[in-house]
Amino acid sequence: MRLLVVEDDPDINRQIVTALQDSGYVVDSAKDGEEGHYLGDTEPYDAVVLDLGLPVLDGVSVLEKWRRAGRKMPVLILTARDRWSDKVAGFDAGADDYVAKPFHMEEVLARVRALLRRSAGHATSELTCGPVTLDTKSARVIVNGTAVKLTSLEFRLLAYLMHHKGKVVSRTELVEHLYDQDFDRDSNTVEVFIGRLRKKLGVDVLHTIRGMGYCVTEPDNAA
Ligand code: CA
Repeated sequence: MRLLVVEDDPDINRQIVTALQDSGYVVDSAKDGEEGHYLGDTEPYDAVVLDLGLPVLDGVSVLEKWRRAGRKMPVLILTARDRWSDKVAGFDAGADDYVAKPFHMEEVLARVRALLRRSAGHATSELTCGPVTLDTKSARVIVNGTAVKLTSLEFRLLAYLMHHKGKVVSRTELVEHLYDQDFDRDSNTVEVFIGRLRKKLGVDVLHTIRGMGYCVTEPDNAA
């Protein structure tokens, strides 16, 4: 899952980015509305954390421009605690949720998790596929009752595919959602990681659809 954080306060920006990275997400960040708008307009984020008070272009305008352009990623806005009118403007502009400043980082993380699973149609923080359970809260993967140790990249790969269970995800889409904008992306390495992940899981849930991409399905429905 790849996220964007748009926040002009350098300390808060760094804290949110670090907390999200520690939770297993790939994170890009912007420090003003113009840069934030550009990134959200051109990169495929799974969710965005957007401050409303931003230099150059304010957060509500950024959000309005994204929504007008048809960008549908879930957006969590950060608002000042005493400014109820900000929340109203934010929701009217297309925000999905908000956190008031000053906030507890745990709340931001919980709300981001909720946005991600809602946008993928899941009701809880646990994603399951046959014998495989992936807990997006603790970043743990259990197969047939036993914890499986994955690298952070393998975890992101599996989490993305499990959020989109039953759908074929192309190699290009995977690369776009697994690496941040500065990473030297090589889609050929995805095949290598898929192979390792398949071996570690040891169950038949991760399928290669020749010429199209990858798909996670229950073992019985395997193509
Ligand atoms: Ca601000």
